[in-house]
Parts: sequence; structure tokens; C-alpha cells
Amino acid sequence: MDRLLTGLQPSGTLTIGNYSGGINQVLNYQKNYETFLFVPDMHATTVTQDPEALRRNIRNAVAVYLACGVDVNLPNMHLYIQSENLYHANLSWILECHAYFGEMSRMHQFKEKSKKNENFTCGLYTYPILMASDILLYDAKYVPTGIDQKQHVELARNLALRFNNRYKGEYFVCPESIIPKVGASIKDLQNPAKKMSKSCENPKSSIFLLDPENVVRKKIMSAVTDSEGKIYYDEENKAGLSNLITIYSIFSGLSIEQVVAKFDGAGYGDFKKDLANLLCERLVVIQDKYNQIINSSIIDDALDAGREFTTKIAKEKYEQIRKAVGYGR
Ligand code: ATP
Ligand code: MG
Repeated sequence: MDRLLTGLQPSGTLTIGNYSGGINQVLNYQKNYETFLFVPDMHATTVTQDPEALRRNIRNAVAVYLACGVDVNLPNMHLYIQSENLYHANLSWILECHAYFGEMSRMHQFKEKSKKNENFTCGLYTYPILMASDILLYDAKYVPTGIDQKQHVELARNLALRFNNRYKGEYFVCPESIIPKVGASIKDLQNPAKKMSKSCENPKSSIFLLDPENVVRKKIMSAVTDSEGKIYYDEENKAGLSNLITIYSIFSGLSIEQVVAKFDGAGYGDFKKDLANLLCERLVVIQDKYNQIINSSIIDDALDAGREFTTKIAKEKYEQIRKAVGYGR
């Protein structure tokens, strides 16, 4: 089985964007790949976090993964927390010493996030290298993500190739991102020029997987569209409406064309009501499962098993890399 790896930062509650780019892809692939699914809690602290909220979000994230259908009973599913495995940070340092200041300065996400706070941390700048370490430690071949992470997976590829060339060996597997054809970037409901993000300050911009029904309805009904009043898909000129069509497609399983055909001649109000119903129907099921799981021992059992399994693999890889570089005795 080829290895697949992905993680979602516990920087807040997961959104339907995270579902589309991350969780839904894991659900589609989990039976066919050895899956490394982790909670990148160290990535979350690239911006300031309240420790209690962070701890809560880590557990919530795992409960949400499971509630969405991630199956920890599969022998090929490994669920773990990044900070519980010390090799991620150790390998990251080695990779940092092989990454160039110039290439790191070109990372789109750093440019965007560093604009929000002029006192941004060095961690925000180097975090794509930690992400490369997360991936390369496990010889992951595929990394399912939204489009926003594509550049970071490319960095991981470049670092893998550079290292293999420099030390003349097949030390790392070169990873590839898997980006969904539909829903690679779910947009902000209030500003469809931006992607939806769990850390966005405007709560009306994002739908969280744990939002109550009335909140979901309000957010959908107040989502920005256009004044044309006709339902068709045009990302460029009708970004808001096209985003809603995309969300409908993801949660209904219909193609974009089928969604457009279904609502041919309908008004935006009716379409939005139908979309809100669909989302609420799906989210209620996830939330019921979440409530059953959040205080159960399933979470810790899965995380303990995941930590044990992945630490062994990471240690082996790290020892190999450490020797290649010339560290130690
Ligand atoms: P933050 O605002 O803290 O960066 P985020 O919502 O961007 O949070 P991440 O933890 O950075 O979420 O990303 C987790 C996964 O979700 C990644 O695979 C990322 O590509 C994907 N993802 C994030 N936002 C979207 C989106 N709007 N549409 C599709 N996929 C997304
Ligand atoms: Mg992000």
C-alpha cells in the first residue's frame, strides 16, 4: 500500500473548507492507502494560541475526524498528534539547514499571514519546512490537501530531491499533492476573493462543522452573491454563487453540472434554502457522532496506538538522515 499523509491545524474548529480539501479526501482514500492522519498542533502555534483553547481544539479535531467517518479500526489508519513525536522537530531542523531563505520568502501563505500581524513569528516563516518534515519522515507518496497547500508540498518535494542529490542516496520519497477536482478552495462566504479559513476573524465568513443548524442557515442566507439572479457556474464573474454551487456539489455528491441543472430557473433565495437544508442534514449526523465520541476513550486509544506506531517509523528515518548529514559520533 502506498502511503498517504495529511493534517489539519487545530487553530480553531474545522470548517466545511477543511472538510472539502482535507477530511473528505481521507474518507475517499482511507481504504486504499496506508494513511497517516495527524493533528499538527505545532503548526497552530505559528500564531498566538490560548493553551486551553489549543488543547480543546486538538481533541475536538480528532473527534471531528472520527465523526466524519475516519475509520481508526482500519489497520492501515494511523492517527496521531505531531508534538507527541519529537522527530518531527528534529528532522525539521536538518531540513531548515537545506532550505534557502529566497525560496522560503516566496511562500504565498507566509506573505498573506504575515500581513495580519507585523510581529509575526519566525515559526510562521519556517513552518512549511516543518510540514516537509511531517511528510518526509514517513515516506508519504501522496498528500491530499486544498489548493492553498500545493506550494508547501512542492517545497517538500524540492527538499527531498535536494537532500537525495546532496547525500547521494534515496533517503526521501518525493511526495505529490492530491487536490480535489471540485472544492480545492472553498471561498469565504462574505468575501469570495479569499478562501474560507478556520482562523478568519469574521464568523459569518466560514461554516464550521460544529455550527448549530440556525447558525448554518443564517450564514448561507447572508452569503454574498450577485445581482444577476440566474444560477450558473462562473468562478470569475459569479464567485459567490459558484462557491455555493461547489458546496452543494460536495455535500450532495452531485456534479457541478447536475447542481446547476437541478436549480435551473430557481431564484437565489430558494437555492440557498435548499443548500442550507442539505448542509444541516449532513452536519447534524456529524455532530451527533461527535457528541458520542468527544468524551469517550476511543480518542485516546487511537492516539496512543498512532503515537507508538509512527514514532518507530520516524525514529528509524531520523537516524538514517542524521547519519547521512554527519551528526553525532
Ligand atoms: P488556518 O486559517 O488556521 O490556516 P485553515 O482553514 O486554512 O486554517 P489548515 O489547517 O491550514 O486550515 O488546512 C487544513 C487542510 O484544509 C489543508 O489540506 C488545506 O489545504 C485545507 N483547506 C483549508 N482551507 C480550505 C478551503 N477553503 N478549501 C479547501 N481546502 C481547504
Ligand atoms: Mg491554513
